[in-house]
Amino acid sequence: MTEFLEHLGKDSFKIKADQPNDNNSKVQKFPNDVTYFMNYQHGYQLEFQNNILKNVYLYGNHDKQFKPYKNVLPYRIIFTMCNAHIVAKFGEPTSKQGGGPINIGISYDHLGIEITFQTKTWDQPNVAIDQIILYEPSNQTICGICKKVGDLRCAQCKLVYYCSVGCQKTHWKQHKVFCN
Ligand SMILES: [Zn+2]
Ligand SMILES: [Zn+2]
Repeated sequence: MTEFLEHLGKDSFKIKADQPNDNNSKVQKFPNDVTYFMNYQHGYQLEFQNNILKNVYLYGNHDKQFKPYKNVLPYRIIFTMCNAHIVAKFGEPTSKQGGGPINIGISYDHLGIEITFQTKTWDQPNVAIDQIILYEPSNQTICGICKKVGDLRCAQCKLVYYCSVGCQKTHWKQHKVFCN
């Protein structure tokens, strides 16, 4: 799990067992050993299941309760990137969530990251990030263009996998601007 959090600011995740509930932070326990640690001041929330960290939520700049997360974001994401930028950077997502009553989100399982956007519909092209959710990455690597299993990797950023040189070339047209 420390490996999973390495991308984040080093002082972000100091949790004390006796963390007081105040205006800046709060611990909330739920049935089935689910515990949330909210840090309103620093814009993040940690979700534990049976005392194991499962998800880290990093908030953008328009949440009512959480101030924006100010530390460096993983994989050189910045909150002003829109959905089209994210696909140019990371390729086609492993899965898509939301729509209807909830904000849309896309996940990249090999990176252990879900990015949600400030919209509930899929037809808006330039929508900024809402929040970033981190989870344990999987070992399965999927082509960033056609979503077949693939183990060719962008040699420069090492964040996107491809099944073939053809798919890599196709993605490069948009990826080159965000390959860093
Ligand atoms: Zn492919
Ligand atoms: Zn790249």
